[in-house]
Amino acid sequence: MNKSLTFIENNHKKEKPKTKEIPFGRTFTDHMFLMDYEEGKGWHEPRIAPYEPLTLDPAAMIFHYGQTVFEGLKAYRTDDDRILLFRPEKNFERLNQSSDRLSIPPIDEDEVMGYLKELLKVEKDWVPSFEGTSLYIRPFIIATEPNLAVSPSKRYTFMIILSPVGPYFSGGIHPVTINVEEKFTRAVKGGTGMAKTAGNYSSGYQAQAKASQTGNNDVLWLDGIEKRYIEEVGSMNIFFKIDGEVVTPALSGSILRGITRTSILEVLNEWDIPVTERRITIEEVYQAYEDGKLEEAFGTGTAAVISPVGTFNWNGKQIVINNHDIGPLSQKLYDTITGIQRGRKEDTYNWTVEV
Ligand code: PMP
Repeated sequence: MNKSLTFIENNHKKEKPKTKEIPFGRTFTDHMFLMDYEEGKGWHEPRIAPYEPLTLDPAAMIFHYGQTVFEGLKAYRTDDDRILLFRPEKNFERLNQSSDRLSIPPIDEDEVMGYLKELLKVEKDWVPSFEGTSLYIRPFIIATEPNLAVSPSKRYTFMIILSPVGPYFSGGIHPVTINVEEKFTRAVKGGTGMAKTAGNYSSGYQAQAKASQTGNNDVLWLDGIEKRYIEEVGSMNIFFKIDGEVVTPALSGSILRGITRTSILEVLNEWDIPVTERRITIEEVYQAYEDGKLEEAFGTGTAAVISPVGTFNWNGKQIVINNHDIGPLSQKLYDTITGIQRGRKEDTYNWTVEV
């Protein structure tokens, strides 16, 4: 690890959550990690400092052209009080892939992993121990050069902030109702869909609002051209089990390479369950349902790990899968992945990293 990491202690420690009812993303720990970039100088001045507001020039490029990328992962406390991360190297790899798309200079993945571990050692008491809770980790990069020119910034700040979070759903796994979006498009091939960047999320708010108003939990995005090919859910990848075979949309450039998705593919291969990454249309899913062959559908992501889809709404037609109940494959995958993440199941894949 880089020896120049400096530590400025926060002498005004906050109170930690006392129950597992912790709303997502509103409580932050006492410290954060920061590191700056300047053209010619590279990434420099890594530091752990008190969590506090930033001072930025109003002309900082992040505010004007959205040059920014982020990641999301979690630290879990095990029953024997160890702190585990789940495949964190994949998050820093994906951060660099996102940065590449947004013309942001890459970070040194190993070096930053070292800084994250140091930050987590400082904040270890913030990793909650209540059932289903975790410490959400948000690494991100913003363009900070004060300049209104439409061109890549010459200065950036990389930061990591930490936020204790409660269980996504009490009871762990919970079937969701999903609206298949027909008007709006999330991303197109050649766009920024494969990057974790701010604009991909704010441009989905209208579709999300429409879905919520009609009693849905989330949005299923279709391709932007034919509005037929299935892409992904708001912040989850999507899988279908049709006639014994598991199918998930292939990475086309417009969907995010989910780390849960990658892990599920590896687990299914290990279990010898046939699984294919390919193009799949919404018509095919509805036809499989009509034919009695749609066995399960589920979303995958860091937040809820597995979310079985109970109901799809598309084109005025509603289908209810498994009586809106949890399918056996969804449950088994959930138990397996969360078991590994929380150190309750043997990590035969070598996925967890201890802090
Ligand atoms: N798709 C999108 C758009 C997302 O934001 C996320 C959450 N990162 C995912 C899929 C799932 O990715 P992961 O399994 O890495 O959390």
